[in-house]
Amino acid sequence: MGDISSGPHRVVVVGSGFGGLFATKALKGAPVDVTVIARTNHHLFQPLLYQVATGILSEGEIAPATREVLRSQANARVLLGDVTTVDLAAKTVTSVLRGRETVSSYDSLVVAAGVGQSYFGNDHYAEHAPGMKTIDDALELRGRIFGAFELAEASPNPAETEMFLTFVIVGAGPTGVEMAGQISELARRTLPGGYRSIDPSQARIVLVDFAPAVLGAFGEKLSRKAGERLRSMGVELQLGAKVVGVDATGVEVEDDAGRRRIPSLCKIWAAGVTGSPLGQQLAAQSGARLDNVDRVLVEPDLTLPGHPEVFVVGDMSAIHDLPGIAQVAIQGGRHAADQILRTIAGRPAGQPFAYHDKGSMAAVSRLYALARIGPLNLAGRFAWLVWLGVHLVYIIGFKNRFTTVFDWTVNLLSRARSERTTTSQQVLARRALQHPEASVDSIPTLPPPSDPL
Ligand SMILES: Cc1cc2nc3c(=O)[nH]c(=O)nc-3n(C[C@H](O)[C@H](O)[C@H](O)COP(=O)(O)OP(=O)(O)OC[C@H]3O[C@@H](n4cnc5c(N)ncnc54)[C@H](O)[C@@H]3O)c2cc1C
Repeated sequence: MGDISSGPHRVVVVGSGFGGLFATKALKGAPVDVTVIARTNHHLFQPLLYQVATGILSEGEIAPATREVLRSQANARVLLGDVTTVDLAAKTVTSVLRGRETVSSYDSLVVAAGVGQSYFGNDHYAEHAPGMKTIDDALELRGRIFGAFELAEASPNPAETEMFLTFVIVGAGPTGVEMAGQISELARRTLPGGYRSIDPSQARIVLVDFAPAVLGAFGEKLSRKAGERLRSMGVELQLGAKVVGVDATGVEVEDDAGRRRIPSLCKIWAAGVTGSPLGQQLAAQSGARLDNVDRVLVEPDLTLPGHPEVFVVGDMSAIHDLPGIAQVAIQGGRHAADQILRTIAGRPAGQPFAYHDKGSMAAVSRLYALARIGPLNLAGRFAWLVWLGVHLVYIIGFKNRFTTVFDWTVNLLSRARSERTTTSQQVLARRALQHPEASVDSIPTLPPPSDPL
């Protein structure tokens, strides 16, 4: 640890997600200087991203400004920037904001940089099937989902209309299931009546996964119930099927029955994660190992080998086969803060991280969720109420909780969704940045049907 007699103990926290924010908050009032460095200016509540993508919630409701969240925490400052280098020997973190480099020195470091989307070696799929990890992702998907209905309404070609009205979601874990359920409700409940050439309720929603069941991690009984519920909502399940190609106008799928193509404009990738590139840096410098998805295998106290002052918490770390969920990140962040406080108080640190499992949940649709809490396996309305309550507790800020409840009530009692605004920028900005030649004209169309003889 650094020289604690020369001034307040300096803690640098990388990331303002669950791990970073809860570590920082646990240091409130302590005799430390905390610097939170993140590439986004907000704390993102990722579990509700799908509701931003499907028009129920606004981005502000699930992503309050970190600066505002920490406003009353006098010992914390927030620095916007992309962390490019962590130097374990020099005990510095280098971050970059629009070309301006900042070097922050630390006595203790908490790294909670999360994970990225994995396309299993097919990164080129990303252009046509965005993942869902960030606000940018959710807004792009919102534009693509609502945009697909608009293109269908304007299309004179039946085959093309069918392609526009087919939504393919890859990955039948919680994110994929929640997205499929919401697109189904959007198509069958919210949108009908507003179009003149198409019937939105005829939209085809396909959920594809290589695994043999949806939500396999919830156990056989809940998994079967989730599958039944999705089917009753008109979601087509293609399980045991591997995605072998993704392009602008469709998805290629392969299973025991052979290879087939699903024509679709709007594809959503909800399968696979890969550890933060910062994890590779930390591993190379400390000798820590990485697991098969590049998460850092940390010591029992969540530190790096030989570096009791560096904690790696949340999704980017791997310990005891714990899943990448919010509670693991929250409790990991709090554990790191606790060890730092012990150190500066001169008490023994290095205590092992003990995770308290509070269960897992997924909302399949309005009024229907699954919950595994201890020995309880719940499916249906009661589970949905539990899901609702837990999510409200962890949304940051009174105002956000209030407006979220309001939006949920509106959606529950009527068919309305208030966040249907989309712009070309949302859909095209990423592509415009990566491929400057891209424009609105790049939206794929199919040739007109051939004239009857
Ligand atoms: C769509 C979706 C749905 C989910 N649903 C659930 C759910 O229902 N229940 C549940 O428990 N969990 C859910 N999760 C998982 C949960 O959100 C994560 O486990 C949790 O967010 C992990 O917290 P974290 O702090 O490790 O990482 P994140 O929350 O991902 O935070 C990472 C932070 O690091 C910052 N960052 C990354 N790289 C850098 C860099 N180089 N420089 C600076 N900053 C950087 C990011 O900007 C961000 O602030 C879901 C996740 C997703 C994506």
